[in-house]
Amino acid sequence: MDETPGRVLVVIPHPDDAEGWCGGTVAAWVKGGARVVYVLCTDGSKGTDDPEMSPQRLAQIREKEQLEAASVLGVEDVVLLRHADGELEDTYEFRRELVRAIRLHRPDVILCPDPYRRKSHWHRDHRIAGQVAADAAFPYARDHLHFQELYRDEGLETHKAGTILFWAPDTPDTHIDIGGHIDTKARALVCHQSQNPGRTVEQAAEGISQRARLSAAGSQVEYAEAFRKVEFRR
Ligand SMILES: [Zn+2]
Repeated sequence: MDETPGRVLVVIPHPDDAEGWCGGTVAAWVKGGARVVYVLCTDGSKGTDDPEMSPQRLAQIREKEQLEAASVLGVEDVVLLRHADGELEDTYEFRRELVRAIRLHRPDVILCPDPYRRKSHWHRDHRIAGQVAADAAFPYARDHLHFQELYRDEGLETHKAGTILFWAPDTPDTHIDIGGHIDTKARALVCHQSQNPGRTVEQAAEGISQRARLSAAGSQVEYAEAFRKVEFRR
């Protein structure tokens, strides 16, 4: 994918997932003029091995970290759904929240986790967030008889997103060049200090470079983030 989309919606299970999996892509696209909005599905309140930490305090810390990271990348808005970490479900309410975000922000491209990895286990929240994001894009956000209350109550028109890019797929088919954006991705990633206490920008950049080199295998570029692309007929 060479061109920069105009509008992008990133559906994120936990704080730090977006920076880790697509932070370079977000940085590159923002620099190219894209308007990017995050939808953070859970509060990340279980992501610690500190026995003294409470879920409430962790949720506050991680929300702040996520907002800082998004601001480093130039993300325009962060929608906080605040579902409990580990308890995401494919419900009418959650589908409506993602349909609402799509109809409101009208993305050309949606970035989210690949729900259908077969070669390795994957966090339940990642599977559910990816699947509900895809379902929300097609057909629910597109068809006016679904979630009619969004038009009736808020005037939100239907929207057809053109493309979904799933991060962390078994078999990637799309590579985004992040060569000029390793440092920005690293600065965003280290905002999540609760997940990697003491990690420096230099250390993060080193790890990101190594992984981006591997992800670029089979592409034309040296450093990439890799995705599986699904396109919808417009
Ligand atoms: Zn996660």
